[in-house]
Amino acid sequence: MFFASDNASGASDKVLAALVEANAGHALPYGADPWTAAAEKGLQELFETDCAVFLVGSGTAANALALAAASPAHGAIFCHADSHIANDECGAPEFFTAGAKLVPLPGEKGRITLESFQAGLKRFPRGLVKQVQPSVLSLTQATESGTLYNLASLKALCDEAHGAGVDVHMDGARFANALVQLGCSPAEMSWKAGVDILSFGATKNGTLNCEAVVVFNKMLARELVFRRKRAGQTLSKSRFVGAQMCAYLEGGHWLDLAIQANAMAERLAVQLKEVPGVRLPWRTEVNEVFAILPHKAHLALKMEGAVYYDWGSRGLTPEEAPREDEIFVRLVTSFATTRNEVDRFAHIVREVLA
Ligand SMILES: *Cc1c(COP(=O)(O)O)cnc(C)c1O
Repeated sequence: MFFASDNASGASDKVLAALVEANAGHALPYGADPWTAAAEKGLQELFETDCAVFLVGSGTAANALALAAASPAHGAIFCHADSHIANDECGAPEFFTAGAKLVPLPGEKGRITLESFQAGLKRFPRGLVKQVQPSVLSLTQATESGTLYNLASLKALCDEAHGAGVDVHMDGARFANALVQLGCSPAEMSWKAGVDILSFGATKNGTLNCEAVVVFNKMLARELVFRRKRAGQTLSKSRFVGAQMCAYLEGGHWLDLAIQANAMAERLAVQLKEVPGVRLPWRTEVNEVFAILPHKAHLALKMEGAVYYDWGSRGLTPEEAPREDEIFVRLVTSFATTRNEVDRFAHIVREVLA
C-alpha cells in the first residue's frame, strides 16, 4: 500500500525494454543520436507544432531551466503558494534565473485564480525601478492539490499574462494525468491555451529519469541549448533518455499509464468517501486523493504498513482543517498501483471505523 508519491513506482515494462534495446551498439553522445532526434520529433507530432524540445533528467531541472529561459534576473515569477517551484526545489528557480523573485499567490485547492494573479501583478508595477518586473506566470497542471485548471480558466490566465507582457510556464509533472481527465489534446492544454513553455513530466508516470522542456514560444528557446549544458543537463548518453521518451509516447502508452493511475485514485476515493468519519475536502480529479482521516484509522493503516504523507493543512480552508483527532493525508496512486492495494487500504479504514 504505497501511496507516498507516484515517483515511488518503478519504470514501466515497455520503457525498461526500450532501454535494453537502446543499449546495443554505439551512438554519438550529447543528443546527436537517433533516439533523441526521434523523441524530439515525437513531441513535435504530439503537440502538433514545431516546438523546441530539450530532454533533461529531472523535473526540477526542467522547471528551473524553463524559468531561466523566460525570466530576466530582475523578473517576478508568479506561482501558487503551494507550488513545487516555490517549496520543493531548494531555490533552483532562483539560482538558475540568477535571482528572479518567486511571488507566491494564494488560491484555494492549489489553483491560482484570475483575481489573485491580477492582485499580484498590481503589486509589481511595470517600470517602477524599485520593484522586480512581472516576467512569468507559472501554472502547475495538475496542481499540487491534485486539482485541474479547465481549458477556459487556463486560457483566461494566459490571456491576462500576455496582456501584461508576462510569459506562461506550465509545470506539467503530471501533465498526462491532467490530460486524460480533461479529455482534450496536448496542444489544447498547452500552446493553444497560451502556454509558452512547458515542463513535460514523464518520470512520475512510468519513465526512469526523463523529462522535457517543450518550448512553444521560439523566442525562449534561443539560449536553452547553452543553459542546459551549463546546468549539467546535457547528458552524454542522451540516447537512453530519448529511448525512454520514445517508448513512453509510442502507441499512447503514456496515456494508458495515466488512465490506470487516475482510475486507482478514483477507486480509492469512491471507497473512502463512503466511510463515516472520513472527509474528502475536494473532488479527486487525477491520481491524488486528499483525505481527512480520524487518527484511529491512521494508526491502523500505519500498523499494516501503508505509506503516505501527512499533508498538514495545505489547500484547506480554516473550516476544513483537521481537528485534534484527525490527520490530513495525501494518497498518490501510479500506473503501478493495484486494485488489491487500494481495496486493502479502504478495507482497513472501514473496519477500524465501523
Ligand atoms: C515531482 C514534481 C516535479 C519534479 O520533481 P523532481 O523531483 O525534480 O523530478 C515538479 N513539479 C511538481 C508539481 C512535481 O510534483
